[in-house]
Amino acid sequence: MTVTTRVFEGQLTTLHERGHQVIRLHDLVAVLQGSQAVLPDRAVVLTVDDGHRTVYTDLFPLITRLRLPVTLFIYPTAISNASYALTWEQLAEMKASGLVDVQSHTLWHPNFNVERRRLASPAYERFVQDQLIKSKVILEQRLGGKVDLLAWPFGIYDQQLMQWASAAGYVMAFSIERRAVTRTENLMALPRYIVTDADRGARFGALLSGPTEQPATKAKAVPQ
Ligand SMILES: [Zn+2]
Repeated sequence: MTVTTRVFEGQLTTLHERGHQVIRLHDLVAVLQGSQAVLPDRAVVLTVDDGHRTVYTDLFPLITRLRLPVTLFIYPTAISNASYALTWEQLAEMKASGLVDVQSHTLWHPNFNVERRRLASPAYERFVQDQLIKSKVILEQRLGGKVDLLAWPFGIYDQQLMQWASAAGYVMAFSIERRAVTRTENLMALPRYIVTDADRGARFGALLSGPTEQPATKAKAVPQ
């Protein structure tokens, strides 16, 4: 979420000291899609939503120095437009580094709960399709590469939204449920931890020590 640069640097140091390896989001995607690739133990993925300009001024130098891959989830209407936001040139430069991937956070970050109440059913569907498809098309045209991952604005999703996102060409989508990813996730609602300045010391340690797999009862439900 929002974290001061010094605390963020401390969190990256803690990850390193505790043996966590930062991997590319697409490496995790491949494994969840059934690839036989093996992820390192204690693998971590870094994602940053919204595209504020401090991603360029503060985060990018840090991850460049440490050679850590990061995925940015961007809503294109803010870029080179809102005063707080990144520019297309900055996004292109970061993407060219090979460390930064840029994926979709819808077109302008609406609250789908509000829009569902505000719009009649067909208009709501068109609205959602626009948010999902135009974001993907604009990011692909502006920056090249494939955009097939989505972060739900405000973490809001439901069955209908997940279906529409799949139809729009997204292979995975991300929520903000505070727990680790397991091997048996709903691929259109993968959990992520919101990390803030409060996540330091023992609290950050506890986050990293959290269970990495579902409880055994769930694992046993898989047919032998
Ligand atoms: Zn957001």
